[in-house]
Amino acid sequence: MVRPKTEEEIALLRENAIIVSKALAEVGKAVAPGVTTRELCRVAETFIRDNGAIPSFLGFEGFPAAICTSVNDVVVHGFPSDTPLKEGDIVTADIGTLYKGYNGDSAYTFPVGEVDAETRRLMDVTKASLYKGIGAAVAGNRVGDIGYAVQSFVESAGFSVVRELEGHGIGKGMHESPGVPNYGRPGQGPKLVDGMTICIEPMVNAGGRSVYVSRNNGWEVHTSDRSNAAHYELTVVVRHGKAELLSCFDFIEKDPAIKF
Ligand code: MG
Ligand code: MG
Repeated sequence: MVRPKTEEEIALLRENAIIVSKALAEVGKAVAPGVTTRELCRVAETFIRDNGAIPSFLGFEGFPAAICTSVNDVVVHGFPSDTPLKEGDIVTADIGTLYKGYNGDSAYTFPVGEVDAETRRLMDVTKASLYKGIGAAVAGNRVGDIGYAVQSFVESAGFSVVRELEGHGIGKGMHESPGVPNYGRPGQGPKLVDGMTICIEPMVNAGGRSVYVSRNNGWEVHTSDRSNAAHYELTVVVRHGKAELLSCFDFIEKDPAIKF
């Protein structure tokens, strides 16, 4: 059962989502060749704590770091490491926060210096598919309409959607019902109603859709064919019948200090 959020809860989730959005931008400012993902993690954790929130991924089911940093063929759940980023890499920061009892959760894939044209297209298509999904998140639609919007856009661009992982409701829980798959059929799944708060997060592979979980750490999800993967995530509330952004990418994309 999905319990729609009250206006007070939506206001708290919005405050939190802004902290996450700004934390992603802090990471974006730090991304450069030679920087390690451990350093990106430290930047994010400092910002989160300085703003009165807690990095919710740290210790979640044993996850060892404050944020996920997923490089190139790592789709999600990458561990921050001491390996320096290289020109042409892509790195996804996925950030979760706990603030006043509510959760925030968003992700962005950053280029490291100049990336090749196909990688740039992968990033652009993945981000555009997120907005297609958000556009389908209107009251009276169903979760399958979101998945269909994402999947049809991604596949028509020649990329593939990861199916093993999905978006989710969010509130006091980091992952609440309903699950929000990035594939689906129109008119299928739970109905969207005003007050629902959900994270939509397409994970898209440049190559095939098959993925595997690292045997080394049991967390990192890799593309099976070692192709690059991109991942963008925003939190929205269905309100007055339409999806309204709680988190956003404005702090990243309108900051002159972050170059693309
Ligand atoms: Mg996330
Ligand atoms: Mg999420």
